[in-house]
Order: sequence, then structure tokens, then C-alpha cells
Amino acid sequence: MDDDEVSDYFRSNFLALQKTVTPHDMKRFLSSNNNAERIGFLLGYPLMYDLPVQIAEDGETLKNGRKALQLKDIGNRYFGRGEFLKALETYSNAVLLAPRKDLGVILANRSATLYHLEKYNYGLTDAEEALRMGYPQELLYKIQERRARCLLGLKRHDEAVLAFRSALQALDTAKLTVDKKQKLEADIRVMLAVIDKGNQLAQKTPRIPQQGKISESPKRMPKIDECNRLYPSCSKAIEIRDEGGSIGRHAVATKDIEPGEILAIEGPYCAALLPEYRLTNCYYCFTKIFVPIPTLCETCNYVAYCSISCRNKDSKTHENECMILPSLWISKTSVNCFLALKAIVQRPFDELFRLKGKLEISKGRVQISEQQPYRTDDFETIYGLVTHEDKRTSEDIFHRTYIATWLLRLLKTSRYFPESMKTPDTAKAKPSDGELYIGGLILHNLMIIQFNAHEISELAIPKGNNTLAKAKNKFIGGGLYPTISLFNHSCSPGVISNYEIANNHHWVYRYFIGTTMVVRAIRSIPSGEEVSENYGPIFATSPEAERKRKLRLQYWFDCNCEACTAHWPILEEIDPTILRFKCESGRECGNVLPIRTDTNEFMIRCSKCGKNMNIFKGLKALQDTDVIFKTASRKLEEGKHQEALKFYLEILKLLDENLALPIRDYHLCQQGVRLCMLPFGNVSYI
Ligand SMILES: [Zn+2]
Ligand SMILES: [Zn+2]
Ligand SMILES: [Zn+2]
Ligand SMILES: [Zn+2]
Repeated sequence: MDDDEVSDYFRSNFLALQKTVTPHDMKRFLSSNNNAERIGFLLGYPLMYDLPVQIAEDGETLKNGRKALQLKDIGNRYFGRGEFLKALETYSNAVLLAPRKDLGVILANRSATLYHLEKYNYGLTDAEEALRMGYPQELLYKIQERRARCLLGLKRHDEAVLAFRSALQALDTAKLTVDKKQKLEADIRVMLAVIDKGNQLAQKTPRIPQQGKISESPKRMPKIDECNRLYPSCSKAIEIRDEGGSIGRHAVATKDIEPGEILAIEGPYCAALLPEYRLTNCYYCFTKIFVPIPTLCETCNYVAYCSISCRNKDSKTHENECMILPSLWISKTSVNCFLALKAIVQRPFDELFRLKGKLEISKGRVQISEQQPYRTDDFETIYGLVTHEDKRTSEDIFHRTYIATWLLRLLKTSRYFPESMKTPDTAKAKPSDGELYIGGLILHNLMIIQFNAHEISELAIPKGNNTLAKAKNKFIGGGLYPTISLFNHSCSPGVISNYEIANNHHWVYRYFIGTTMVVRAIRSIPSGEEVSENYGPIFATSPEAERKRKLRLQYWFDCNCEACTAHWPILEEIDPTILRFKCESGRECGNVLPIRTDTNEFMIRCSKCGKNMNIFKGLKALQDTDVIFKTASRKLEEGKHQEALKFYLEILKLLDENLALPIRDYHLCQQGVRLCMLPFGNVSYI
């Protein structure tokens, strides 16, 4: 992911601080290679504290009962006029603002709206949540009746019966006139009788299976047939090797891999949503929100979830984050800073503090075995990812320490640290061991994240479009994927990343379902070869010198991938009149035989190993690919992605069997594969 400069919020303070540090002190700072000491050094500078950490506008980010109830009244008016979608939106805004005591009533009203919109599942969730929030006893009958009707809509008849019975019971305590009560009671009894009759009929007549509706239901998560036992996020077709040195840990194919194969599925160690998507996407799983669920806290109004389950899973982390998110957003710190903090706050302080001694010894390079495989959710695992600390300039370390120190000060305002470890936010106070240790970890995380974080994306399709012609990939957040981070870069990779649709030509392709990354092969990868992904520049569109410059600048390495080593031309410059046949002797020879497309010679002889080969069959196969390509493109245009994909993958195989890369058609075809797979991941309609 792109690394970034300090935002405007920090610039003048940072420059002033830089001037204050005497050369002698700077030398002292640089002589330390301990992150906690570095943080301690900057915490001692009074100038550091000129920059406040709590910078949210008064009340702007807080719950507000008065505003929430005002919105509720507006929502009621929409509801009364039958404008249910407007009512839903207004109630949803009210839900996010409401303190707990007002939430029950607003949720109840939203559930009524959802019932009318026939979104029974959501309506049921809201009704049940309203009950949990403590709904007024005298109105209980209403919410129980709504629950029952939603259950009925969901064809959960037995539960609906129970809910109707609860509604009858609740009528006893309702503050209603006798007439009204009797009328309601009669209504409910009719409903019960209808359900009973329906059940009897259903027993007599065979059930017709219900057609599943395609609605806002979540995407189906694919599965890996057989996992690597040491690295369970990878398939068995991938092995992680460690050769140390500049290569380090990397992925290798353990068998011949076909294009389209799923190679890895990994959830993030931590993921951070960009602030601008916080009301449209779930703060925990990043999927599009239809009906926002508020936080459990009594404080903030600025995060929303797609479901109760996501909210609950995030509740511990949110407790620690609740007060610090607005400062991160307003100061416009990068998503990398969010991730550096997130990696900390999603683990309790005590747990991380206990790891202190262990991390000093292991440096995060844990021994793994089948009994104790590489774990994505383990802090020690991410601690061991590459930081390139030895290659960093003094400016880089000073700058990163400055940011980490500010982040630590911000974290101190949250509930993260236990009281015994908390010290005042001044240069005079002596920071506690716990604070320095966590500050050091934040600095370490910033270094890891610079090289290891991945962008998380969503495909935005303009409403009413069946094809992907106008679709755009949107960057919605960042995440840390400890296993996929071990894959090296290639300018012609085996797995693909999500950048602009127009310039993607790789070996593997990755997309996201929520925050889970799915990695698939996008070319044939022979057994024993390295499986690489792509960090940005691709040979097809970017010339070698430019790619190498970018990679050196951003990722600090010299690329030795096959495209760079063999000086592949960019796509436009590949001569379309030459076919580059592979020698039939296979990898033992490895020679490539350039043949003109208009050749009349079908027997050719390898100049290296002397093998004679008949290329007639190969030429015929290549002709076939033209026909298949046309079919695939047509299917794609019709929006039949699964079918188109099958054809594209077939072409890749045919080409791989005969020709050596780079092949112009091959990369066009990979583009097709990518388009076909895009809708498998996160999608939003704009
Ligand atoms: Zn969610
Ligand atoms: Zn909160
Ligand atoms: Zn390269
Ligand atoms: Zn040969």
C-alpha cells in the first residue's frame, strides 16, 4: 500500500520539533535501536505536546438524544404518509444518534417500516433488539405482534405462534380502552387460527421448495479443498519456503496449478475502513449496510454495523477505539496509522504486555508445526513480518517515531491502558513501562504496515448496469494479511491484485468478500515455481525501468522477476506476427522458438536441444482460441460471468500448453478473467 507523508495537521509541529532537537541529541536518538526508547525520547520534548490529541468538534461525534427524537418524529411523518424508504433513512439516522434509553422506541418504529418494506429479517432483528433495550411494558404487545408478523413473513410459523401468544399476554398490561383491547385480541386470535389452518394444510400437501431470492444476501465464501497444514490460509498447492537473504519467505507451487484455482483465503489480522465509508459499510466486516446497527457504547455516533453479530464481534475493540477515532479522522492520518493502532487495540493490554519477553527473543519468527500452525490472528505472527529497519534512513525513523508518539498519546486518552500504567500527558511525567512498550509496538507496526498492508476494495457498479463496462474498483480500506504478505512480487505475477481494471495482467488474482481476501491463480504455474503476487507495477503497461524505479522507491528492492530478467516488452510492443513456441522437450531445454504467424513450415527443430517438433497441432489450437475468445467476450457482455470465465480459463490453458510468455492474447484474456471474477467479491451499486 502507498506510504504517505504527514498530513497538514502535523506538518508545522513536526518541522518545529525537528529544529529543536540538537545534533547531539539526534545522535543519541539514532544510537538507539530500541523502539520503546525512541518513543521515550520524543515524549520528553515539551514541543510534542503543542499538538493536541483530542480534536473533535464539540459534541459532533457524540450521541444526542434530543436530535435523535427529533429525527424520529420526522420519520413518523414519513411513515404516516406511506413514504417508507424515507422513513427508513430517517429512523436509521436517529438510531445512530440515540442513547440507549431512547433506542428501543426508535428501533421499534424502524421495525414497522421494515415490515412494510417486506424486509422481514431486518424487521425482526430491530424488534428483538428493541425488546432487549427495554421497551415500555404498556407497549410490549405492539412489538410482540410485529415480531410475530415478521416471523410469519419469514415462514417461521411455530415461532410466530409463540410470538402472537406473547402479544396476547402483553395485552393485559397495555394501557388501552377495553374496546380496543378486545379488537386487538380478536385480530390476534384470527391470525393464530389462520396459521393453524395453514399448518394442517401443509401437512397434507407436499411442500414446494421455495426459490431463493437474490437480495442483499451475503456472497458465498469459497472453500479451499485441502489446506496447507503449516499455513492453513493457503491451499495444499502452495508451500511457504524461507531462503533468508533478500528472498526471505516466499510461496512455491507444490504441483502444477491451473488458472482459476483458489490458492489462498485469508481473513485479516486487522482491517481499517476509510472514514468516508463509515456510514455505508460495516465497520467490522466492510460489507454494504442496508439497515445500520449502532454501537453498544453510550458515547459515539460515528460507526455503523451491518448486523448485530458484527457489532458484537467488534464491541471489545470498539471500547478501546471509541474515543480516538474522531481524532484520527479529523487529523487525516493515513489508513496505515489506523492499522498500526488497530493491531494493538483489538488485543487486551495484558495479553500484549505478557508477550514482551517472548517478542524480544523470537522477534516474531515463531517455530511452526502441524500442531501449532502459522496463525493469522496471532500478534506474534504479524510482529515477525518484514520491517526493513536496517535499511531505513535516520529521517525515516525520526518521522515514524514522531507519528507513533502522537498515536501513543492519543491511545492514552482511551480506555486501553489499565489505571496502574497511565501517566499524565506532559513532557515532565515519566512514562510507564507499559506505555513505552505499546508506543514501541506502534512504531514497529508502522514499519510493518508500510510493506505488508493490502488495500481492500469494492466494485462500484452504476445502478441499472448489467455489465461491468462502467464498473470501478473503489479502495475502501486497508488490512494486514499475514500469510499473503509472504508472497513476493513479480511484474508478471501468478496472483492478481485489484488496481485499475484497465491495467491488470498478473499470475494470481485477488478479491475481497467483506474483509476476507480470496487469491486465485491467473495463469498456469508449474510445480516448483515461485507463486508471486503483484505490488503495483505490471510489465504489460509499465516499462521495465519505470517498474524497477517504483518498486525500489516504495518497497525497497530490485526486481528480478521473469519479466524484468528477460526484458519483456510492454503489451503494445509485442510483435503480433511472431508466435513464441515452447520447445517440446519441456523445462529441461526451456528454449523458445519464434515462428512467424504466416509460416508454411510445420516441422521445426530446436536450436538448443535439437529436438524436431511438429507445430501444426499447436497452430490449430491457437486458431481455436480466437473462436473461444469471441464467445467469452459475448458472454461477458451479456453479464454471464461464470460461463465467460470458463471460456477464458480454457484459452489460458491452450496458450500455456504451446507458447511462452509474454503473449499478447494471454494478457487480454487475463483481463477477461479478472472482469469475470470481479462480481464474486464486494459489490456496491451507486
Ligand atoms: Zn458486518
Ligand atoms: Zn463508541
Ligand atoms: Zn519485475
Ligand atoms: Zn529444446
